[in-house]
Amino acid sequence: MDKVLEARKSVIRVAQELQAKGFFGSERGTAGNVSVRIGQEERVAVTPSGQAYENMKPEDICILDFDMNLVEGNLKPSIESSMHLCAYRKRPDVGAVLHTHQHYVSVLSVLNLPIPPLFDEVTLYLGDPIEVVPYSLSGSPELVTNVEAVVGNMMNAYVLQNHGALCLGDTLENAVRNAELLEKVATVYYQALCTGKEIAVLPKDISTMFQDLHKAKGTP
Ligand SMILES: [Zn+2]
Repeated sequence: MDKVLEARKSVIRVAQELQAKGFFGSERGTAGNVSVRIGQEERVAVTPSGQAYENMKPEDICILDFDMNLVEGNLKPSIESSMHLCAYRKRPDVGAVLHTHQHYVSVLSVLNLPIPPLFDEVTLYLGDPIEVVPYSLSGSPELVTNVEAVVGNMMNAYVLQNHGALCLGDTLENAVRNAELLEKVATVYYQALCTGKEIAVLPKDISTMFQDLHKAKGTP
């Protein structure tokens, strides 16, 4: 299959999957956005702005170059496309970007709480720390600047203050897994905080080992 068509189809499949999981914050809304890099090129396939995902067709997915030029497609790209592109530009290890409004990450986003290292598999794939990107209006250049300031830390997940989540991966499948792991750790962390008891985090030598892995090459 043509690689552009393949990328467009994979973006639709993942957008529908994330919506079905409730990761876009609404089952009918058009919030959240998905993109994938096309091969090793400086081009991405990204969801369009304000379109329902249920009946989306491959041609509805926008193809952008890294400078935000619309290379193919008739619809307006997602307003968060520049946030996606900033991650690709800054991180050659990144092959896919998801922006979601998943529930428990949203809870932590309004508590403005970074997530400490709590589980091996989460810290292995997402990294440590899972930082909070300071608030700026959705789609604004200031939000892109804020994201740009943190994505160089080579981690694969971020909490967007008063907004939601940003997850990265080398492939779209791994980015989805990372979003699932982020929701798991956000859920457990929030529920643990609710007990008021002390929370045990991973030993420092273990979290440092995972940090070093991420910083060395970026991980899936
Ligand atoms: Zn959003």
